[in-house]
Amino acid sequence: MVKQETMLDLEFRSWLLDQPEGETLLRCYQCGRCTSACPVAEIEPSFNPRLFLQKILIGDKSVAENQLVWNCLTCEQCEVRCPEHVKIPHILILAKVRGLMAGNVPLAALDRARTIISEGRSLPVSSPMLKTRTKMGLPDLGTPSMDQIVAMLADIGIVGKLETVKSVYGGAEDE
Ligand code: SF4
Ligand code: SF4
Repeated sequence: MVKQETMLDLEFRSWLLDQPEGETLLRCYQCGRCTSACPVAEIEPSFNPRLFLQKILIGDKSVAENQLVWNCLTCEQCEVRCPEHVKIPHILILAKVRGLMAGNVPLAALDRARTIISEGRSLPVSSPMLKTRTKMGLPDLGTPSMDQIVAMLADIGIVGKLETVKSVYGGAEDE
């Protein structure tokens, strides 16, 4: 049952359903297999993919308004077990996108996104890391195509947004 103070937002639901593969949400019949397969749910009971989908289905946008969803590992354990092939990790990514636009993004994730724009990778490559790779005989990492990466991110409006968005969860930039 939806709590009285919950703000329902059918615009969020409609937006999500309009995104590529977002409509797979409508196939969810709440069996809960996703949650029983989820490694994050196993250690954090408040992280519940089945419940996230139920909330989005009824237009409860709280999934995009708190940090919990950012704990998703995109490991796809849920998706491979879903009898309806609902694109669960993808739907949670869409919730993160909406969260990002409103600043509902953990500072660490924001930092990683900015590193992608500046370096083309989510983590900077350090000299010790490169030495270890050489010792292990791993291939050269190559150079990211920054022009393409920035153009692609600019195309979806994320570059300008990342310059201005502030994490509502605190951290150095809010001090
Ligand atoms: S396993 Fe699929 S159908 Fe079942 S609750 Fe999860 S998303 Fe819905
Ligand atoms: S993709 Fe996310 S929701 Fe699905 S099993 Fe992995 S951590 Fe859980």
